[in-house]
Amino acid sequence: MSEDIIIVGGGFAGLAAGVALAEAGRSVLLLEQKSYLGGRARSFQEATTGSVVDNGQHLLMGCYHATLKFLGTIGTRDTINFEPQLRVQFLDPTRKVTELRCPNLPSPWHLMCGVFFSNSFSFNQKLDVLRMGRVLRAGKNSSANATDRLTVEEWLRTLGQSERLRRDFWDLICIAAMNEDPRIASAVLFEHVLRRALFSSPFDSRLGIPRKGLSDCYTDAAVATIRARGGQVELRQDVRGLLISEGVCKGVRIADGTVIEGKTVVSAVPWYVFPGFLPSGMVSSDAFFSRLPRLAPAPIISIYLWFDRPVTELDFAGLRGTTIQWLFNKGRLMGTGQSYISLVLSGAHEHIGRSKEDLRNIVLRELAALLPEVRSAKLLHSLVIKERFATFSPCVGVDSMRPSARTPIRGLYLAGDWTDTGLPATIEGAVQSGYTAAQMILQQG
Ligand SMILES: Cc1cc2nc3c(=O)[nH]c(=O)nc-3n(C[C@H](O)[C@H](O)[C@H](O)COP(=O)(O)OP(=O)(O)OC[C@H]3O[C@@H](n4cnc5c(N)ncnc54)[C@H](O)[C@@H]3O)c2cc1C
Repeated sequence: MSEDIIIVGGGFAGLAAGVALAEAGRSVLLLEQKSYLGGRARSFQEATTGSVVDNGQHLLMGCYHATLKFLGTIGTRDTINFEPQLRVQFLDPTRKVTELRCPNLPSPWHLMCGVFFSNSFSFNQKLDVLRMGRVLRAGKNSSANATDRLTVEEWLRTLGQSERLRRDFWDLICIAAMNEDPRIASAVLFEHVLRRALFSSPFDSRLGIPRKGLSDCYTDAAVATIRARGGQVELRQDVRGLLISEGVCKGVRIADGTVIEGKTVVSAVPWYVFPGFLPSGMVSSDAFFSRLPRLAPAPIISIYLWFDRPVTELDFAGLRGTTIQWLFNKGRLMGTGQSYISLVLSGAHEHIGRSKEDLRNIVLRELAALLPEVRSAKLLHSLVIKERFATFSPCVGVDSMRPSARTPIRGLYLAGDWTDTGLPATIEGAVQSGYTAAQMILQQG
């Protein structure tokens, strides 16, 4: 018997494709290698503390339209807590807390007023940010010009952004949004992110933080939606290859040798897994697939600390002048009553080789300098999670390496945050890619 549609991979991309296809009345079989769903956006219960821990803190934004639609469809939209307006606090080595809070005015006035009245920028820095806003709104640096050969750092320099402002503001945004060092990250992609996230509307600029563990925000609900429409989701199914003959994909082969035939296959696995599904020689001989191995990874390190007492009143903050970039007060955000903090180090190429103990010590030292309460608090427990392949590196020229959902193999579609969504590797890119693949399949009939 042949399945209608086989989806390989149960992260945001695969589940979004599965839900969209099941909702459209198509029969779906989703195969996931692990014993759990969620991929690179997942959570688990930590054994020592009992806390729910994400594989890394995830932030969403109001401009995650596809994601919000997906969560609405599966009925979990309220698991994301959106601030009424864009509000970010920053903590610097002088222990001063400053803030950027944007009023609910039409774009771009929300951002312009937010910056103008913020105590986070000097007068000259405010003028720099406002100048940047003018450039973005005027579209002077569209991808049609030399920007596509520049790194974020080079681009910001050409736009006259001072070194201090770059370090204390733009770099934090670039690293958070793109998971890459501004000296490597693509200016075109960053420009696109800024337009979409900051200069679109006050609604789009808002930050959203999951109230629950990441997996609890979507995996069970997505599976329930797929199953309620007659689809199947199977765990521990390690797909090893695609059945391809005469340019047509006819199913998948599982590690135990089982063959599952299908009329259509959606691969929703990461970029470093997919090439292994193709028959030998196809990656190098086919122009469509040969660019995939050029995508490089960018790591993220997450450090979780549990203290015996509260160490900060902040919900979350961008950290200036430190190795770690963002702090999240997980106990407060999730309402658990624990003093449980999450620290994020994105674009962590230089630090990924360090031992977990080293990383924990660096973070504790930096945190003690920023938050005096840390010095008197007792550290009860710590956890360091290194995601070496957190995202693909959004380097200059990356768009030419990203494939479309439609492949030259009939019946084979690609989804995943690494396909050509025009976005960095994000939840939104993953969901959008799943929807795009589903839409193409539905158009095909
Ligand atoms: C630490 C960290 C922090 C992040 N922070 C943010 C953030 O703040 N905001 C944001 O928007 N994004 C963030 N991201 C990025 C976001 O998590 C990813 O872009 C998104 O989850 C990718 O989803 P995906 O479905 O494309 O891929 P994945 O989540 O990788 O899903 C692929 C699935 O395929 C499965 N699979 C792999 N091989 C096989 C096989 N052989 N057979 C069957 N199944 C297989 C995997 O187990 C996995 O479940 C972060 C990522 C990390 C790692």
